[in-house]
Amino acid sequence: MKTLVVNCGSSSMKFALLDPASGAVALSGLAERLGGAGASVRVDREDGRVTVPLPNGSYPEAFGVLLAELDRLNARAEVQAVGHRVVHGGEQFSAASLLSPEVLKAIQACVPLAPLHNPANLEGIAAAQAAFCDVPHVAVFDTAFHQTMPEVAYRYAVPEAWYREHGVRRYGFHGTSHAYVAGEAARVLGQPLEELNLVTAHLGNGCSVAAIAGGRSVDTSMGLTPLEGLVMGTRSGDVDPGLHDYLAREAGLSLTELTAALNRESGLKGLSGLTNDMRELEEAAGQGHAGARLAVQVFVYRLAKLIAGMAVALGRLDGLVFTGGIGENSAAVRSATLARLAVLGFTVDDGANAAAVRGQSGVISASGSVSTLVVNTNEEWMIARETAELVARGL
Ligand code: ADP
Repeated sequence: MKTLVVNCGSSSMKFALLDPASGAVALSGLAERLGGAGASVRVDREDGRVTVPLPNGSYPEAFGVLLAELDRLNARAEVQAVGHRVVHGGEQFSAASLLSPEVLKAIQACVPLAPLHNPANLEGIAAAQAAFCDVPHVAVFDTAFHQTMPEVAYRYAVPEAWYREHGVRRYGFHGTSHAYVAGEAARVLGQPLEELNLVTAHLGNGCSVAAIAGGRSVDTSMGLTPLEGLVMGTRSGDVDPGLHDYLAREAGLSLTELTAALNRESGLKGLSGLTNDMRELEEAAGQGHAGARLAVQVFVYRLAKLIAGMAVALGRLDGLVFTGGIGENSAAVRSATLARLAVLGFTVDDGANAAAVRGQSGVISASGSVSTLVVNTNEEWMIARETAELVARGL
């Protein structure tokens, strides 16, 4: 029996049919430009990739293609459950949840906290429930893993009524990835997760670090929204909260314009004036592009500073894990970050670090160093596992 994992964005839908026990993928694909012209769905079959146009560009149409693919594989009856990635679960969800009318209402109630993501998640869920009407559906939240953070880590120093009345606090994101790679790191180190204090660094287009004590998140760098913390592809990460007022006065920018610029025109892209893509930046920096070099340097400096901060949350640091497209592939970012972290007892093994690219995971620290690992994240498998476990327990 298999689990279908669905991850809907504002104009995209990623899907994968997996065996939750082994992680083996039977079918996967990506629908893009939904809601607009030129929508299509790319399906990765065992014998290659096909692209199917979606004339209406709708979620139900994309699910229609998915059903046809399942029928082609004779696999529709194998779909035991559908697991949905949902970005924001607020304070209501500290674990995955079977989708009921009450749970849908609670996800709806979190829309103000994630106005771009949660509505897309809900639209995808509605289309999936119509297409797969006789199996259980489960919501797996990006925020749930971080609900174990203590109040000292999740409260902002702002008027208390903002927290009470509007839920202004730190929630954290990427929870599925942080939880997965922490478990994998424990397996690789051959130690029980319950006995390890780890910092995990998820570095993709979005970036966050988490402090994980005995398998529980105790702090993370993202906050009320996924804009806080590290320098990211196009997101600024931390800035002075006084910046909005200053730029509104000096540049005449509206709140909407400022928010858009901090989300889409900042980060590596803003600093370099070139691109949000780390691989391209490394190439450009190598060719002497000053903006690219600075962007990578700021990215690394801020990353090292936040990792060091997470050590405070843990008290004792047993390991550091790199994951995400940058964490899994950029030996240069990892070695520069570890050089900055020498103060905490990190030393890199250059050979092991250079070898840990393109899907090769493993330990990259020298002997005597705090253990440092590269682990390939697998959010789809984690969502499939959580979904199957919940369904098996009949919750
Ligand atoms: P998303 O968050 O969208 O899932 P990914 O986890 O795929 O993104 O990460 C994308 C980032 O990973 C990009 O900045 C990309 O340049 C970077 N990346 C991928 N491969 C490499 C590489 N070989 N070297 C440096 N950066 C890489």
